[in-house]
Amino acid sequence: AEKILEIRNLTTGFLTDQGMVKATDRVSLDLEKGKTLCVVGESGSGKSVTALSVMRLIDYAGGIITEGEVLFNGQDLIGMRQQDMLNIRGNRITMIFQDPMSALNPVFTVGEQIAESLRTHKKLTSKEAWRQSVEMLRRVRMPDPEIRARQYPYEMSGGMCQRVVIAMALACNPELLIADEPTTALDVTVQAQILELLLQLKKEFRMSMLLITHDMGVAAEVADRIAVMYAGAVVEEGTVAEIFERPRHPYTIGLLKSIPGLEGERGGELYTITGSIPPMSKIPSGCRFHPRCTYAMDVCRTNEPPLSQSLTGHKAACWLDDTGADDPRPAKPNNR
Ligand code: SF4
Ligand code: MG
Repeated sequence: AEKILEIRNLTTGFLTDQGMVKATDRVSLDLEKGKTLCVVGESGSGKSVTALSVMRLIDYAGGIITEGEVLFNGQDLIGMRQQDMLNIRGNRITMIFQDPMSALNPVFTVGEQIAESLRTHKKLTSKEAWRQSVEMLRRVRMPDPEIRARQYPYEMSGGMCQRVVIAMALACNPELLIADEPTTALDVTVQAQILELLLQLKKEFRMSMLLITHDMGVAAEVADRIAVMYAGAVVEEGTVAEIFERPRHPYTIGLLKSIPGLEGERGGELYTITGSIPPMSKIPSGCRFHPRCTYAMDVCRTNEPPLSQSLTGHKAACWLDDTGADDPRPAKPNNR
């Protein structure tokens, strides 16, 4: 199938007083046209840095892309001139973030803000921009769009503000939407509505979606494929069924076991992976997960496992798994 996005060995660093510290380490990801790829991991795993690098916004956050390629429809974005990038960012690739309030300007009505985002990339009269702005509010299922268009962000709930942000992001009919924790700041009931809305809009606008989340439950709802990141690297990648039913990496298994409800029926206590994600300035030798892994062997402490691929395309970076076997691993308690 045709790929809209191919990330190859993306390595991004931040210059600190301890020298260059990597935030992502040779990250490779593929997104097929019309599909949703969820990147899952704890905070600090490099998910947002990956997204900001794709958007070429990482320099504004103080980061430097030191290695790798990002191909959008086969065209490299990393080496692209800033001027050409302006044509892509906010137009053909758009992004939404966790906190809708910080993406909106408090002193303009939401209608004006959507109209403004339209006029950045299209030649429109202000009347036509306003008409399309109201139409966008309707398409994100905003109640009373003509009335709401004249309101300010503070007059709306968090969920409505996120709808406005989505309307802004979709106004120019992007090919790719990057959503970084789009529901994390919202109430639980609103979260489900916004996820459902994103799925419907993805179809209606014929977009592809890269969705970043710390929540395996969210990934299960929306993803076609899931990539699991740990400490700056992709440690497992596969279809939703592969990740949920046949996880191969002990970290993924830990993430799945920590979802409330999945293990709950057995009456077990909620599982937590012992230890915490290491700081990127102190990435462990060998397998970066080894200090937290109950399966760690000698080789794990010295040699980094490659991201090996099974016949079905299910990838995992783990020495237990160099056969590429796609069998479920028995769960082993971590509380020794
Ligand atoms: Fe655990 Fe070793 Fe696999 Fe790393 S390579 S996840 S330490 S078993
Ligand atoms: Mg983040």
